[in-house]
Amino acid sequence: MNRIGIDLGGTKIEGIVLDDQNVIVTRKRIDTQKQKGYNFILDSLASMIDELSSITKDESKIGIGINGTFIKDTGIITHTSTECLIGKSLKNDLEQKLGQEISLENDANCFAMAEAILGSGKDYNSVFGVIMGTGVGAGIVINGKLFSGKSGLAGEWGHHSIDPDGKKCYCGNVGCVDTFISGPSLENRWYELTNEHTQLKSILNDTSNIHFKQWKSEFLDKFSIGLSNAINIVDPDVIVIGGGLSNILFLYDEGKKEVHKKIVGHNADTPILQNQLGDSSGVIGAALLN
Ligand SMILES: [Zn+2]
Repeated sequence: MNRIGIDLGGTKIEGIVLDDQNVIVTRKRIDTQKQKGYNFILDSLASMIDELSSITKDESKIGIGINGTFIKDTGIITHTSTECLIGKSLKNDLEQKLGQEISLENDANCFAMAEAILGSGKDYNSVFGVIMGTGVGAGIVINGKLFSGKSGLAGEWGHHSIDPDGKKCYCGNVGCVDTFISGPSLENRWYELTNEHTQLKSILNDTSNIHFKQWKSEFLDKFSIGLSNAINIVDPDVIVIGGGLSNILFLYDEGKKEVHKKIVGHNADTPILQNQLGDSSGVIGAALLN
């Protein structure tokens, strides 16, 4: 059985076909053109799936990953950067159009699936797959199956509050992990310290700046509080980090050390690994949802 995976992003829609050996046999990418609206995106998805299906010739299972959140029961999208999708039931509408069932998950869950089955987590039974980029999220995979929880919220460690007096988060909560260690939050903290708007990449190269030590120390503190809390609850066999911030190498030594210090009992040595599949994890994970 072939599997079709689609990664629906704000600027690109990527689609692949995975064969039964989990090898990518074809890949296609088009612009989302979200300004053209919901029906246009729906048509684009349907025609991409038709095209990928015609290549495989056999019947394929279909999985779609989106950056955003949706109500598990109804499939209605509640939050995403592709605004025209909000309030729509993408899953139902697409199923009706295709006459076939599809799976829909958020991109963090797709990332976790991909890394758990084919990436850095493949030798472990339980994987906490963390995304750190514009936002902070995660997915939980146990014995090759996604654990998304009753409402699809499992793994949302980016939106647990670690400071009741902290900044308001876009999710409505206050002092979420996301308000401290997402890319934009880290740049914002740098601005508070230096009064300079600087991109994260440049901040990371500016290690001799007098504010760098404090900035990094706060970053590692919040990273380790957030992740050790997650470990205390889930106790996964491994944590795999993806997203733009996964290239920050001090997370895997100094960061890991800080996390281990804060784990209850101080006796867990949970590995914290960089992802292996890079930007392809979303689309591969979507294909692996079924
Ligand atoms: Zn939040």
